[in-house]
Order: sequence, then structure tokens, then C-alpha cells
Amino acid sequence: MKKLPILFAAAMLVACQKPAEKLITRADVEPQYLTVMDRTVYEDSTSAWHQIDEHTWHGNGRLVYNESMYLIEGDSMALLLDAGTVIPNLREVVESLTDKPIMLAATHVHPDHTGAAISQWDTLWMNAGDEVNVPEFMPDYKGVHAYLYDGQVIDLGGRHILVVFTPGHTPGSTTFLDLEHHYGFSADAFGSNNLLVFTTMTTVSSSAERLIRFMKRHDIPFCFPGHFWGDNLESQQRISDVGRVAEEILRGEHTPVMMENPRLPYMVENYGVMLNYNDEAIQ
Ligand SMILES: [Zn+2]
Repeated sequence: MKKLPILFAAAMLVACQKPAEKLITRADVEPQYLTVMDRTVYEDSTSAWHQIDEHTWHGNGRLVYNESMYLIEGDSMALLLDAGTVIPNLREVVESLTDKPIMLAATHVHPDHTGAAISQWDTLWMNAGDEVNVPEFMPDYKGVHAYLYDGQVIDLGGRHILVVFTPGHTPGSTTFLDLEHHYGFSADAFGSNNLLVFTTMTTVSSSAERLIRFMKRHDIPFCFPGHFWGDNLESQQRISDVGRVAEEILRGEHTPVMMENPRLPYMVENYGVMLNYNDEAIQ
């Protein structure tokens, strides 16, 4: 019996010495996805659609830095993430890509993601946290706001999409993890170039940490962002770096560059990631 504490201490020492698990970087994953934007399956003056795999498509509008949409098809239904800014024929286009009924969900409420075309669906699935943005950015939608919940699994038939709340960019920013195809869809929460922080640095840091835990658990190497132009997949390493920079900002370790945006006047860049924010975010 006396030996037990020693064994326990030795085990703890080994556990403590275990090197930090390597996070997946952009370089680890990009090569096979660099050609997504070349695989165009539909194109007109308001949107272009590209095939990611046999049952997954990326679409982008043409008004706000390639504002992205993703169509994810299962055996019984399909999920459309976001609706772009102004895409008058969105429903017609996505219905030409899949013959399954299409559920529309918003990654967050901003005009380049929940634009005019949301009116083509009677129900919009969204995070209730972004109701605060509805009066300014989505005042005309007459349909039902159906609320997603954190940890919800959307069953598309043989394909399951896990809903992970990742507030930071907005209070209701949400990431969707495809458990079978191993894709993440992080929209503007992570990956759309500069992270525009409309909440707080603590929120950003905890979302980053939490999302990485889910990505590792479900073997998801990267996320497709909300503004995708072919070479900006968001890796685990970059998400982690965003969290690190948020904490450094909280500790006062950076002098921000001043920007011309009155809502988010500060910008900090470190480890290749950029965060734009204001005074209210320093908490
Ligand atoms: Zn946004």
C-alpha cells in the first residue's frame, strides 16, 4: 500500500511532461482543398457555387468579400448555412444542386450572411444570442426565428451536424461541425481574415479554446470560413492563436494600430492573425 503514493506521483510526473498536442496548421490541410474554387458548378451575376465533395458545396455572393454559403446534403435533407447579401434566385440555385428539402440556418445575424434571400424560407434557424442584431440587420424578415441550441445535432440522414456556439464576432456566432465529413463551418467567428470583435476578448478566448476541444474530439482539422476565397481555411492552430492574441490584449501586451472604423477603431496582429476591436472589448 505504501508504494501507491509514489506510483501516483510518478504517473503525474509523466502526465505533466507529455508534450502539448500538436495542432493542425493550414499547411497540413490546404493542398487538397486549394482547388475548391476551380470546381464551379453554377455561376451568375449574383453568386457562384463550387463543389467541395459529392454532397457539399460552397457558394459565394459578390457583394461583400466573397460572402460565403455552404450547402450540406444528407440522405434525407440538406442544410444551407447563410444566404449571402442579395441573391434573388438563391432558393432556385440551391434546389438545382440538391433534391432534398433545405433547412436554412444562419451562422450569425449580419447583412452579408442573413441578407434579402432569407425571405425565401419560412423558417430561419439562428442563435438567439443574435436577436440583438435583428432590429438593425434583419428587420424585414417575416418568417419564424427558430432557435438553435448549443450541442444540438442536426440529423440530415447519415450525416450529423453538431452546433457549437462560438460567440465573439457577434453574441450569437455559431460554428457547425460535420461529424461524418470532418469539416467545420466557422463563418466569421474564425477565419474570415480580421476577426471583428463585437463582444469581448474573454468571449473570443473561451470560444477559441472550446472550439478546438470539439474539433480535436471529432477529428476536424479545419473550418471553412464565412468569407472563403480558396486559400483561407481556418486551422486549429490559427483558432488557438486568435485565443492567445485575445488574452494578450486583455493583459495589455499590445499597442493597437488605429483604424478608420469608428465602431472598431483598434487592430492587433500577431502570429499571423488579426483582431479588430474597441474599448468595450477589453473585458
Ligand atoms: Zn459578420
